[in-house]
Amino acid sequence: ETKAPVLERSAVIDLEAIRHNVRQFVAIASPAKVMAVVKADAYGHGAVQVARAALDAGASWLGTAHISEALALRAAGIDAPLLAWLHTKESNFAAAVAAGVDVGISGWELDAVVAAARQQERPARVHLKVDTGLGRNGSTIAGWDQLVGEAMEYQDEGLLRVVGIFSHFAVADEPHRPETDEQIALFREAVAIAADAGVDTEVRHIANTPATLSRPDAHFDLVRVGLGLYGLSPFAEQSSQELGLHPAMTVRTLLSNCKAVDAGQGVSYGLNYRTTAESTLGLVPLGYADGVPRIATGGPVRINGVTYPVVGRIAMDQMVVDLGPLDPDTARSLLGAEVVMFGDGADGGPTADDWAAAAGTNNYEIVTRISSRVPRSYV
Ligand code: PLP
Repeated sequence: ETKAPVLERSAVIDLEAIRHNVRQFVAIASPAKVMAVVKADAYGHGAVQVARAALDAGASWLGTAHISEALALRAAGIDAPLLAWLHTKESNFAAAVAAGVDVGISGWELDAVVAAARQQERPARVHLKVDTGLGRNGSTIAGWDQLVGEAMEYQDEGLLRVVGIFSHFAVADEPHRPETDEQIALFREAVAIAADAGVDTEVRHIANTPATLSRPDAHFDLVRVGLGLYGLSPFAEQSSQELGLHPAMTVRTLLSNCKAVDAGQGVSYGLNYRTTAESTLGLVPLGYADGVPRIATGGPVRINGVTYPVVGRIAMDQMVVDLGPLDPDTARSLLGAEVVMFGDGADGGPTADDWAAAAGTNNYEIVTRISSRVPRSYV
């Protein structure tokens, strides 16, 4: 087994954790299949590596937002069924058709993909999307009849194949809310309308991670799992551990400075924090250019088994922790110690959820925003 090289700053991705999480979702979803959602570079974890691990562990489909993201997976030699669902007039539909990438269709894309199919002399593979309440992409229910009808005409001409029908939930992460029931009911209606029009799809899909976990009645033929693959919980009330998931990303670095200071020492831009007694300041070489949210002062880092809050303003490249009074030998020995910004939390260390709380955001954003300046390594 190859171990990741020790890098001075890295996001270490545990591919076995990803495989474990995928196996969990395959079991939960069965007999429905699992689409591994690997958009946004697999939520920051590395799209190609995650896609391979997910397929290896039993996922049968891959999903991205953009056609360009899907094409990057094809370029890496990945030939699994693959759906991209967010487009502009400049999206490369011809390349999608040529690469056998399935295209999500909300309306105007239908003509664009048919033009691409004519150009490529190959039928496009499409999934028709219905808006059941999220208010983003997807045909309205009012326009659904017409979209289905036009798609069937093109299918009869051999220009496309309607592979799927899909929708997306708005509040599945809040299981008590009634809107999810309403969305499922509307989705069933849309599926029935399509069936009446002669659509014979391979896959109907609406569930994201929270719905896969909490709404077996929403699994249909395929579930689209993003966050859960990465071992994170979509629920405020349940940790990933309680869900049996393993967080896959650890962001780590080494302490780059450690120095004794007097009481009253101001810290970082704005001098918003001052030591109240003689103390030791540790410098962590991660900042907002690395994807640490600038707003997240107080976010925890783990050094030698102890968790410290970040004090003062988070800067572009660095942030500071107050290590308290230390004798000079201890301070010297801490220089170069490993600093974990977040990881799986197994040892009581900080998690992406902790940083989400400190930044007033969700765990999706914390992992996804870790920037390309932080090299990924894989174990
Ligand atoms: N399906 C669609 C259309 C999405 O945009 C996303 C991501 O937001 C997902 C599925 C996966 O959602 P989650 O990460 O909650 O599983």
